[in-house]
Amino acid sequence: MDKLRVDFRTHSRTLSGDRGVFYDTSNRAIIILQNHECFEDILSTLQHETIHFCLKEDENIDEEQEEEIIYRMAWADLDLV
Ligand SMILES: [Zn+2]
Repeated sequence: MDKLRVDFRTHSRTLSGDRGVFYDTSNRAIIILQNHECFEDILSTLQHETIHFCLKEDENIDEEQEEEIIYRMAWADLDLV
């Protein structure tokens, strides 16, 4: 079973504008701390990248569909989507 590895960074030369990114070839998520406003914001990005990890085996959905699934999951608790 694959494991997700998460790196929390205080800065990045290559991901300066991103909040987080998931690399499916290495099962690595990078969370750029400085691009978040609060702890809850960091948890949201961590959840986002973790869902990318969980969906990576599904070859029937593309990246845009993954983003849509993650968006809907984030708002599902409030029945807003
Ligand atoms: Zn994403």
